[in-house]
Amino acid sequence: MFESINPATGEKGQPIAEMDDDAIETALRRARSAYCDWRVSSLDRRTELLSAIADQFEGNKQRLAETATREMGKTLKSSIAEVEKCATAFRYYAEHGPSFLEGEDVAVAKGRARARWLPTGPVLAVMPWNFPYWQVVRFLAPAIMAGNVGLLKHASITQGVAALIEEMVAEAGAPQGLFQNLAIRSDKVARVIDDERVVAVTLTGSEGAGAKVAEQAGKALKKVVLELGGSDPFIVMPSADLDEAAETAAKARIQNAGQSCICAKRMIVHEHVFDQFAEKFADAMKAVKVGDPMDDDNDMGPLSSFEQRDTVLDQVERAQKAGAELLFGGEKLDRAGAYMSPGILTGIPRDSDIAREEVFGPVAMLFKVRGVDEAIGVANDIPYGLGSSVWTHDKAEQERFERDIEAGMTAVNQMLASTPEAPFGGVKKSGHGRELGPWGMHEFMNLKSVMLP
Ligand code: NAP
Repeated sequence: MFESINPATGEKGQPIAEMDDDAIETALRRARSAYCDWRVSSLDRRTELLSAIADQFEGNKQRLAETATREMGKTLKSSIAEVEKCATAFRYYAEHGPSFLEGEDVAVAKGRARARWLPTGPVLAVMPWNFPYWQVVRFLAPAIMAGNVGLLKHASITQGVAALIEEMVAEAGAPQGLFQNLAIRSDKVARVIDDERVVAVTLTGSEGAGAKVAEQAGKALKKVVLELGGSDPFIVMPSADLDEAAETAAKARIQNAGQSCICAKRMIVHEHVFDQFAEKFADAMKAVKVGDPMDDDNDMGPLSSFEQRDTVLDQVERAQKAGAELLFGGEKLDRAGAYMSPGILTGIPRDSDIAREEVFGPVAMLFKVRGVDEAIGVANDIPYGLGSSVWTHDKAEQERFERDIEAGMTAVNQMLASTPEAPFGGVKKSGHGRELGPWGMHEFMNLKSVMLP
């Protein structure tokens, strides 16, 4: 049984049964059979289904959002926004997907050739709890449009959400087996990857899980897309609008209680504006209202679990032992639930372990730099390369950041956020491959060369 614990209260939710081996086998058989039909389905059928799933998400958004909030603690208003964003992604692929499938004529020396996009089969998605609907939809919407079918192994703590996604897809009229939730633990993932009916795997999660799944996929010679952790830099230069930058920095650090892969985690600030920025940023972080995630007045709920909260508290303690100063916050709150306060660490030794780790909670690391070269040096001095946000009105600096920050994404004078149209993904230990847009859809497709006389 999967047992969920509401991190806001510590109360247990309804247990959900784990699938046994026979049920996994049935699901794999259904997936293969569904693929045989779906791969030749008309584009109209695919777009109709995507629109119908969007309608289901919109029509059930309150129920969906409440389940996510109960299972992993994000504020209800952000859960609702997440469900609405999912509907947008289904509609995006319904509208634009057909054009992403159009083939292309290729000039060849003799005869004619065409490059044609074809589906490949059932794809396994291993997904995390932090955006429990959105992470799944990023994979599922393009998979349906591509003519593939989906199997989901969701995080153990968001099994209620996983069951609801399956319900929404079925209610929208999807054929049996097109999308199935495998209620399994991670020790069953290797068996699914190894199964010859599964053609590829996509994982969003930690570096450790990514390495394991990539190893299993490698052994089975299957394609893998990895969306892993990050410790995104948020760089502030003297020409920035400091009020806007400080307010956005706080929002970007505490969104989802600091548990987003693209949260701004390291604030890297030019010495000329360091003190001003630090003061404004501290004010914004202190103003964050922490409390019951069901209450719309609050900006932040608990962390996703007691373990996750304790991991972050331990990182704060280790940072201090390494010589960092905790300006304020970063503490356990004296109330039931996995709550902690937002905080800021500064003076972090650059060669300490913590300076190179991902802090998956609402505690920012603040660094002072002397110029653009040092800012880029600090930004890149980590194993990760997911997102980044840079604040400057100097065109030459913008160009340096766009070109030289080792990251899959750079946002200029704004908070980084994913959007269905733009490629999403990282470099270095943040993973490889891309999601969203046409790029995400093509990751699991066969680009066939058709040679014609
Ligand atoms: P996690 O522990 O890696 O879990 C992610 C998924 O992988 C879960 O379904 C988990 O199942 C499964 N898993 C764990 N170990 C596995 C193994 N050895 N073999 C197969 N599956 C395994 O990550 P998390 O704590 O849920 O999420 C936080 C991490 O995800 C952070 O590092 C964050 O930055 C990253 N993330 C990245 C992105 C991105 O797009 N780049 C987005 C969101 C989050 P169980 O729950 O059953 O263990």
